[in-house]
Amino acid sequence: MTPNKAKLIDGKDFSNQLIRSLIPDIKTILKIIGRPPTLAVILVGEDGASQVYVRNKVKQTEAAGMVSVEHRLSDQTDEETLLSLVETLNNDDDIDGILVQLPLPKHINEHSVIQAINPDKDVDGFHVINAGKLATGQKGLVPCTPLGCLLLLRDTLGDLSGLHAVIIGRSNIVGKPLGQLLLAENASVTIVHSKTKNIEKLTSQADILIAAVGRSEMVKSSWIKPGACVIDVGINRITAPEKGDGKYRLVGDVDFAEASTTAHFITPVPGGVGPMTIACLLRNTVVAAAMRKGVEISIK
Ligand code: NDP
Repeated sequence: MTPNKAKLIDGKDFSNQLIRSLIPDIKTILKIIGRPPTLAVILVGEDGASQVYVRNKVKQTEAAGMVSVEHRLSDQTDEETLLSLVETLNNDDDIDGILVQLPLPKHINEHSVIQAINPDKDVDGFHVINAGKLATGQKGLVPCTPLGCLLLLRDTLGDLSGLHAVIIGRSNIVGKPLGQLLLAENASVTIVHSKTKNIEKLTSQADILIAAVGRSEMVKSSWIKPGACVIDVGINRITAPEKGDGKYRLVGDVDFAEASTTAHFITPVPGGVGPMTIACLLRNTVVAAAMRKGVEISIK
């Protein structure tokens, strides 16, 4: 018997649709305040992956008709200089969103830098004010990756009410905020982590299984309830000798080949959650501009 094949959730296609849907709001903001929503991106150091992420973020922001201002600082930059740049951008009325690309060099305290960003411009949604708003059901800026996961889930499953979601991973940037978002959708949420006993028993009860761990292909078919919807947040580089010496390929936290035979829906890596993260950054920039300037837009 041929095993069932899960339907692919195409994050690339959905993120393109999401970005296109922002264009009328971008035009409204341009018309009312005389400039498009504007994002400032700060990159400290030469980390290769961060450079690629920043390049993509800047390129896509501009392609959508917004403005992106890049600040590239050397990896020797001290915390005081970085905080002073954040303060300048906080006070610049022409900047709607500020993104500090993580990770920062070890000598800089990430928490201090994130908390220095004006919460109204915190398009990554990492500031404690925005985390608190999310936890208490108030309107604020929501972290991009969890928001991307939620939009994919809504698009794929419709009403999430009453579904059991299991999230593997409890980080402040993915697992915890995603738990809050899913609770607000009336899902029942279980969050598991490295200290959880018998993870497989819990994950195999999930209607929605989200993996945000950072361990290549950890989630096997036996972890998945037949017919579940699987969202793979993980991005892991593994060596790919078949591509040549020193080459690598990207895999998720889910063993895609195995999981595809059990799940009903699944996101690929790459092309699943990754593109949604960038689309949600653009969405947050539009929301931040509209909130700051009191412009009515279609995003609620
Ligand atoms: P963190 O390292 O901050 O958190 C990982 C979480 O996984 C922790 O809660 C940890 O538990 C848990 N964990 C680690 N090992 C195990 C295990 N063996 N069993 C169960 N749980 C475990 O990672 P992030 O949340 O920042 O990122 C997770 C993954 O998502 C990474 O691969 C990252 O690259 C990717 N990512 C992708 C994004 C995208 O745009 N697609 C954006 C952000 C992240 P504990 O708390 O107990 O240590």
